[in-house]
Amino acid sequence: MSQHFTQPVAQADPLVAAALGQEKQRQQDQIELIASENIVSRAVLDALGHEMTNKTLEGYPGNRFHGGGRFVDVVETAAIERAKAVFGCDYANVQPHSGSQANLAVFFLLLKPGDRVLSLDLAAGGHLSHGLKANLSGRWFEPFHYGVDAESEVIDYDALERQAQEIRPKLIIAGGSAYPRQIDFARISAIAKQVGAWFHVDMAHIAGLVAGGAHPSPFPHADIVTCTTTKTLRGPRGGLILTNTEEWFKKLQSAVFPGVQGSIHSQVLAAKAICLGEAQSPAFREYAAQVTANAAILAETLQARGLRIVSGGTDTHLVLVDLSPKGITGKRAETVLEQANITANKNAIPQDSPRPPEWVGLRLGTGAATTRGMGAEEFVALGEMIADLVEAEAAQETEATVARCRAQVAQLCAAYPAYPA
Ligand SMILES: *Cc1c(COP(=O)(O)O)cnc(C)c1O
Repeated sequence: MSQHFTQPVAQADPLVAAALGQEKQRQQDQIELIASENIVSRAVLDALGHEMTNKTLEGYPGNRFHGGGRFVDVVETAAIERAKAVFGCDYANVQPHSGSQANLAVFFLLLKPGDRVLSLDLAAGGHLSHGLKANLSGRWFEPFHYGVDAESEVIDYDALERQAQEIRPKLIIAGGSAYPRQIDFARISAIAKQVGAWFHVDMAHIAGLVAGGAHPSPFPHADIVTCTTTKTLRGPRGGLILTNTEEWFKKLQSAVFPGVQGSIHSQVLAAKAICLGEAQSPAFREYAAQVTANAAILAETLQARGLRIVSGGTDTHLVLVDLSPKGITGKRAETVLEQANITANKNAIPQDSPRPPEWVGLRLGTGAATTRGMGAEEFVALGEMIADLVEAEAAQETEATVARCRAQVAQLCAAYPAYPA
């Protein structure tokens, strides 16, 4: 038999095999606090590496442009049915290759070039696919942004209402990638109705919390909802689009295909079905509750150590630290944490510099470490380590602290392994 069918990657491509092995080891050895990451189940991994990847299909179950699709139809139909059940909505499109693609399809469905879009400011936690000038969404539509109140750092709904009345957007978007608080979906929906705008919730970060009952659902307030299946939902890389609006659904199907995408990623649809099945389990509800409990403990621990938390706390998996009182940038914090094998990322905070190297925010998320089994005790320890590392970095005296934290992280990683070697 040809080696093509039998040779594992270790023999077929040593360069790539080495990087894959090192990446797996890195994930075992580091504590992942990047808020958009998580650790998928063995079942999701199996699906992603499955022969189903070979199948090309365009169209939707029962209505494909190619033959041989009946087993892929089974998994796509399961993903659709489970998505509707998990999020309590009537219609789901599970094909978007990513969260950004899902948003693009929504714009294609609802907007014409030049239409006005009102979304959360990037510095207040918004997402680049919601109208950043460098993104297609900002180039082809006319973006406006609302922000947070300067004191509370919570969305300023009154200002949002005034702005919406003034600019009369076609679409209002809620949701972001660094907003730690619950969003008042009912309030924004009322504002959208008042000005004749559609209301789109992009719940990418919090989809797993919504699925697990740890965060209010955007339904019935939103007209249309998008999310990623990564992040707190803990599935493969990809997106979903959900709605209750029947008259949109056919147009939505064609907005995804052939509007912004071609053929489906068959094996990813299998993985999406699996993760949405997992999201219906009692264990997933426990996980979601633990994710938010861990974030609250992490925020409290950091606060007790004198670090300023944007908005004073969190309602989600996400904690945003303002390092400006400590006199260091987010980048410096990210670097010293990584030396101790804790992974996080620099981030803008409200009213931050427009230049990423000057950002003073550090974004932390509890999804991945919670999946590994870490709970309150471990998150207190992590908070203490992060505070120690930030202080050491501010004092430019990091060596001993990094060494001590690295050892402590190694113990935690050994106690809470990810995948077996
Ligand atoms: C992560 C994210 C996206 C983009 O998802 P990709 O799969 O990376 O394209 C879109 N919107 C929000 C709010 C996000 O957090």
